[in-house]
Amino acid sequence: MNDTDLMRVLQKAVTHTVPLPKAHPDRKSQCPTIARIWKVAADGKWQDSDHSSHCGYCQKSLAGAWKEEPPSLITLLRYVASPETFENRRAMEIYVNHTGDARAKLAARLVATRHQGTALEEWLAAIVGFFV
Ligand SMILES: [Zn+2]
Repeated sequence: MNDTDLMRVLQKAVTHTVPLPKAHPDRKSQCPTIARIWKVAADGKWQDSDHSSHCGYCQKSLAGAWKEEPPSLITLLRYVASPETFENRRAMEIYVNHTGDARAKLAARLVATRHQGTALEEWLAAIVGFFV
């Protein structure tokens, strides 16, 4: 493409209305913006956890944000300490299955072994031994 071709393409783009990208089909009106989801990835708190904790789009988007900026240690420990009440459990499960993050994989293994009857002291010792 030479300069003349480039100018022709740019003039055509300027004179024609470019359609806005369509929203993801799974995105609902209650879903926060991607910027807000990235903030949640960093600090772990939803403004509307009643929606976002149960929304497939929000949970999948959070898992995607974690791929770029892995969950903090405190987020992983909150998940390990109480997976049943962890508001981003689905996002963590997606993240663990699609990442090489050894900390997250250990957290998931600790959750799984805890449910198989591992004593609390044993998995706490494993956490301390891995992270310290
Ligand atoms: Zn949502």
